Amino acid sequence: MQGATMKIRLLLTVLLAAGLAACQTNPVSGRTQLVLVSEEQAQASSAQAYAQTVNEAQQKGKLSTDAALNARVKRITDRLIAQAGNMYAPSRNWKWSVAVIDEPTLNAWCMPGGKMAIYTGIISKLALTDDEIAQIMGHEISHALLGHGRERMSRAMAMQGGVTLGSIIVGRDLSILAPVADVALTLPNSRDSESEADRYGIELAARAGYDPHAAVRLWEKMSAASGNGPPQFLSTHPAPDNRIQALNALVPKMMPLYEKAR
Ligand SMILES: [Zn+2]
Repeated sequence: MQGATMKIRLLLTVLLAAGLAACQTNPVSGRTQLVLVSEEQAQASSAQAYAQTVNEAQQKGKLSTDAALNARVKRITDRLIAQAGNMYAPSRNWKWSVAVIDEPTLNAWCMPGGKMAIYTGIISKLALTDDEIAQIMGHEISHALLGHGRERMSRAMAMQGGVTLGSIIVGRDLSILAPVADVALTLPNSRDSESEADRYGIELAARAGYDPHAAVRLWEKMSAASGNGPPQFLSTHPAPDNRIQALNALVPKMMPLYEKAR
């Protein structure tokens, strides 16, 4: 443990010296984040990791061919994307994409740069409504808009230590970052990140015309499902007990946005 801590400290020291690491104020949340990966790097490596994920799914016959389901997910995410630009203007230039992966896992994600996936398992096992799908994807998109993917990639990079460090400093070999993007997806989000994504996700969905009450129902369903062993989604999304109460408290504030967008 101590060795790992020292390694991370050394890594940070070297990165700081190289001018590559900095505390940055996130333009959306105003929160200070330690970021070791530039937005450009995060997006390029995510695009690569996404292409690999979609390719592999396709080769295994696990990319959903259900045209109606694909159209349903696309319709929902398109409405969320249309609102995302108002929250974080640079996202208007993102090359958004969503994959529906035919696996029983309860999972969904949005990488930096707008590369998204939702798994058929979470839709069918939780019997998700459009409003609830919008809440999940709104939450995931918010993680990307708020730069949380970069925070997680920075942590993954620190974990992988020297190999990645060398290639970052020496050049722009982004292929080395693709595994980092993968590892980042398996790391849990911090509690701060989760609260932020909940807060911005419910607003994004409301502005896109999706019922804020669905955010509460979604997490109730999720916590009921975790009775049979924690779903993969929860392993990367710690669910504090007060999450549902916090979302409940946000509902009345979001209702006017929802009513206006309907
Ligand atoms: Zn989350």
